[in-house]
Amino acid sequence: MRYPSRASLQQCRFGGGKQVNPELRNLIALQDLELRIASLQKQLSEIPDNNLRFENELKQVKSEFQQREARLKDMANERRTLEGQADLLRAKLSRLKDQLMAVKTNKEYTAMLHEIQMAEEQIRSEEDRILEIMERLESEENNLRQAEQEMMRRSAELQENIRKSNESLPRLESELSALREERTDMESRIGPDLLMRYRRIANARKGVALAEARDELCSACHVRIRPQMYAELMRTEGIYSCDSCSRILYFREDL
Ligand SMILES: [Zn+2]
Repeated sequence: MRYPSRASLQQCRFGGGKQVNPELRNLIALQDLELRIASLQKQLSEIPDNNLRFENELKQVKSEFQQREARLKDMANERRTLEGQADLLRAKLSRLKDQLMAVKTNKEYTAMLHEIQMAEEQIRSEEDRILEIMERLESEENNLRQAEQEMMRRSAELQENIRKSNESLPRLESELSALREERTDMESRIGPDLLMRYRRIANARKGVALAEARDELCSACHVRIRPQMYAELMRTEGIYSCDSCSRILYFREDL
């Protein structure tokens, strides 16, 4: 079988006088409207889920920050407790030093010295822990300030997303109802048999009943179109279905 060359086919279409079939053009317009309706419906149906996702993230961002704040508070409390303990130890130490003056025997003196040493060691170790916790507190406070800025930034972003998405709702809904009206109008311009055929194919093909014929192929299923049908379609814009997927074939007007 010999396929006619593309050049000769185009000559056939444009050289031989281009025909426009208004029924096919109306079907194309209907298909276009239905695709836009489907895309709007999808956008609309995604809004509640998107908002829920934004709101959940907003809660999470805030709660993570609050947890960090709480950890910092815990550390500050721990520091105060340690300082209180160190104060008690220092008081005890000074008491011991006073008592040291009053001891009578060597044995008592040695015991007291030992106790003083112990208290001094405890104080040093408390002071080390206080120092360590102060360093951690300082770096945590810096981190918290950064985290707070980041939390504020992200919260504002999420709130803006929610606001925009709520704002788009009435606009999308009115666009949708306008497109539905246009669809009803377009349907009334198509013969009932053709409309039924269109609906049947659309239902079987995920809402897409039309396929562009391009380079001698059906652009939806990529199966080659019989050359005779291709030439005929190009010449008359008749209603032809792809042999493979049954979609109604058309050429783009701007070709
Ligand atoms: Zn096909």
